[in-house]
Amino acid sequence: MSASYDVVVVGSGPVGTAVARELADTGPGLRVLVLEAGQALGDPAGGHVKNILDVEARDAALAALATGPGPLPGGTPARPGTTLVGAAAMPNAAVSTNVGGMGAHWTAACPRPVDDEVPDCVDPAVLDEALTRAEALLAVTTHAFDRAPLTGAVQRVLGELFDRPHRRPAGPMPVAVSVGEDGSLHWTGPAIIAGDLWDRPDVELRTGTLARRVLRDGDRVSGVEAVDLASGERYGIPARAVVVAADAFRTPQLLWASGIRPPALGRYLTEHPQVMAASLLDERHVPADAPVDADLPVTAAAAPGGGAIVPVSGVSWVPYAADRPFHGQVMQMDASPVPLDPGTAVRPGQVVGLGWFCRKELSPDNRVWFDEDTADPHGLPAIRIDYALGDADRASIAAAVEEVAAAARALGRPLGDPFVMPPGSSLHYLGTTRMGGTDDGTSVCDPAGRVWGTANLYVGGNNVIPTATACNPTLTAVALGVLTARAVATQLAAEPAARSAPSPVAEEAHA
Ligand code: FAD
Repeated sequence: MSASYDVVVVGSGPVGTAVARELADTGPGLRVLVLEAGQALGDPAGGHVKNILDVEARDAALAALATGPGPLPGGTPARPGTTLVGAAAMPNAAVSTNVGGMGAHWTAACPRPVDDEVPDCVDPAVLDEALTRAEALLAVTTHAFDRAPLTGAVQRVLGELFDRPHRRPAGPMPVAVSVGEDGSLHWTGPAIIAGDLWDRPDVELRTGTLARRVLRDGDRVSGVEAVDLASGERYGIPARAVVVAADAFRTPQLLWASGIRPPALGRYLTEHPQVMAASLLDERHVPADAPVDADLPVTAAAAPGGGAIVPVSGVSWVPYAADRPFHGQVMQMDASPVPLDPGTAVRPGQVVGLGWFCRKELSPDNRVWFDEDTADPHGLPAIRIDYALGDADRASIAAAVEEVAAAARALGRPLGDPFVMPPGSSLHYLGTTRMGGTDDGTSVCDPAGRVWGTANLYVGGNNVIPTATACNPTLTAVALGVLTARAVATQLAAEPAARSAPSPVAEEAHA
């Protein structure tokens, strides 16, 4: 049996870390434990791997991660830092298991949700303030790439093509990136969200520790059963409240394994079907004084950042609008994704990668479910996925393909045709513990993240977002996590400690 805590948070990704940070800031003195199955990839814990400048050290950190299954038919190899779930219906579905979760690897695009993307069960003014708080925690800016050459030209072309009076104009993508005095870019990982959190006396980050079960006592939870993954030791951790922010696959898995199974658990799984293309910005768009970089590598593999975004890159944005069921993320790359003709002189930022994320219709039949007959490596029921596109989804993807092709042509010389990525490629998985205004069987939690039918179990992550969206989800999920943390702090402040003293942890929790 471990010492007891006021709150145990499961998962140290952007959402788990934001929940812990907001709890510590709004409820000083609360004892908060964050359990993380993975290990830190560098120093500080939860920093973005792109901030590790020593390429060998970065590669070593990534190589230390579990690899998981290889590509499935129709899928592609896992993105660095992620492991494929291994589901044929969504072959590129992936997770990250390390301090910081996917937030140690992400691209950091942080648009706000608008129109029908916004959950209608949350007061708009409350959500707006929480989004502002989330932007502060993530250090979101639209100025990270102000000095990138050719970005103005890219945005001008996109604006001419897509701007309409009723739409938000094409412009810089809000990104969670800070700029050093020397112009260097620092990517926000959960370490930035944490700040000094892990040094505070009442807060602990415990790595290499898997939450295997949430312990129940009637409609209350009394803590979690944890496993030290190095030693195999199992023990109970009493807590007055538990917040599970363990991603859109493993959050419902943990609830299921704990016997907490609201009808909507795992259902309404959605993601953002993704269409990609590349283009070489035409000289007619390029200001005459733009520099030429004769040494620019001609393939992504040869580039120092392996095709990563560097200060010459800009990240531009064609926002979602009600009459366009997708949004566009346009990145200027440090290398071409396809070999260019020998002798081609390319200016920094002249190779442009286009990624369009489509809104996918919601369906309860798209779901993650758990196979009681097959255990995963941790003895939890194995993750299975049912997922299919509908007619409306196919129509939006077709429209996105046309739009991407038009954008690639308008920008310059398309480098190949647009292509649709295999399902799961967006790495944005939503809806599997969605929130709702009432407990009507179509949601798992209330607007504060509290699981229906429980008094003190909360969930967080992209999985609580209830709407069909096109925008990248992390900013919204962090904002909703901020609201969850405040609700937990308010609840604990109102409850006499004796009322919520942890009940004894089940005997079988001890190995
Ligand atoms: P995660 O970051 O997935 O963290 C969950 C954590 O829970 C993990 O660390 C995991 O190890 C831990 N965990 C799971 N189960 C357990 C358990 N039982 N016990 C203990 N710990 C557990 N999003 C955007 O909005 N914009 C982008 O531009 C963007 N780009 C991306 C690019 C890449 C390459 C990747 C990989 C992701 C990208 N994303 C992007 C997605 C973004 O990273 C996620 O939305 C975000 O990290 C979700 O945060 P989270 O805290 O909910 O979950």
